[in-house]
Amino acid sequence: MTGLQELLLSRIRDVADYPEPGVMFKDITPLLADPEAFTALTDALAGIAKDTGATKVVGLEARGFILGAPVAVRAGLGFIPVRKAGKLPGATLSQAYDLEYGSAEIEIHAEDLAAGDRVLVVDDVLATGGTAEASLQLIRRAGAAVAGVAVLMELGFLPGRARLEPALDGAPLQAL
Ligand code: AMP
Repeated sequence: MTGLQELLLSRIRDVADYPEPGVMFKDITPLLADPEAFTALTDALAGIAKDTGATKVVGLEARGFILGAPVAVRAGLGFIPVRKAGKLPGATLSQAYDLEYGSAEIEIHAEDLAAGDRVLVVDDVLATGGTAEASLQLIRRAGAAVAGVAVLMELGFLPGRARLEPALDGAPLQAL
């Protein structure tokens, strides 16, 4: 494990049975409250943005906003929020996706992306991969290309990476 990984891991709190029984919630608020760890995380994600040739950073509601916005600023790129349905005021593209029980829908402002854009998706946790997969579909439907997906952590006991693979279409998925 690298020094960066040790630092990040030491600032993530495991909360058992939250928000429901059986879930081990990965709480990143201790990391956000530590300027050394938050800066190191931002720098590492901004490095991925540069390495992948991204022209825009998309953050997934809600913790992807907290991580993605400083990454965009640090990398000198624009930031675009992907929000839960009904929160964006302008003309949106919507994408529905399946959850373990039921379904969800996310949206993006279509005008924020253009042909020629290469987008890095940033979030805190990749679990089932459903949210990230839907965001990649939105990016492509908006006419832009996918530069990659970068997350703080990937829950390796869930098949998120495998689910995401077809939508990545060769773009990298990087979990710090
Ligand atoms: P998924 O679509 O299943 O990959 O879920 C991804 C979203 O749910 C991310 O935006 C995460 O913030 C959140 N999430 C899922 N599982 C967890 C977990 N165990 N701890 C913290 N956040 C989680």
